[in-house]
Amino acid sequence: MTAADQTADQSALVLFSGGQDSATCLAWALDRFTHVETIGFDYGQRHAVELTVRLDVLAAIRTRFSAWDDRLGDDHLVDLTTLAKVSETSLTRDVAIVMQADGLPNSFVPGRNLLFLTFAGAVAYRRAIKHLVTGVCETDYSGYPDCRDDTMKAMQLALNLGMERRFVIHTPLMWIDKAETWALAEKIGGEALLDLIRDETHTCYNGDRSHRHEWGYGCGTCPACELRADGYRRFLAGSSTA
Ligand code: ZN
Repeated sequence: MTAADQTADQSALVLFSGGQDSATCLAWALDRFTHVETIGFDYGQRHAVELTVRLDVLAAIRTRFSAWDDRLGDDHLVDLTTLAKVSETSLTRDVAIVMQADGLPNSFVPGRNLLFLTFAGAVAYRRAIKHLVTGVCETDYSGYPDCRDDTMKAMQLALNLGMERRFVIHTPLMWIDKAETWALAEKIGGEALLDLIRDETHTCYNGDRSHRHEWGYGCGTCPACELRADGYRRFLAGSSTA
């Protein structure tokens, strides 16, 4: 293995949105790899709060976790606003979240994770990074087909064939539920990381940063808030198996 290969093998690029899941994945990567970069996407989200929150989370990690500060490298923000122009979803348009006839919520943005991983692969290629980390999850997901384990395995194969690399896509949350995601954060970074996730990350579909609950900020009633709150309550009750 050459020195460059060894560096690549210790480097990870985390798909980081500023939400609870991707923040937990970022901590997971910082715990394992000596060099970690982050990538985020502006895809015309209804709430720009997501894009400001992710910078707040990165800043909080740097100030509260000195060991991780040295490992945390560049942040990349990719403009994918064209995605909102070709899709009609509740995440990019001002419409209520409802179930569609095909059984998927209209918060599903077709092709989103496929695009994200493709751009992450392109950045990782340029930055000589081997490991891609994403917070997708099959366990309590909203039925999004691009969060499935098989989709990730197919993307890993497609990226490696299409870019002539040996990328490894890591999905630390794939088989755990929201309570276990809280438990994983506690295991990696203790109470300090739980504090950071509660205070700084953002999950709410309605972009609400004015209501503070025991599990963090949000409207408290959208599907994302309900999932986060329910997971937190089960985590506190100790029903998690992580
Ligand atoms: Zn909400």
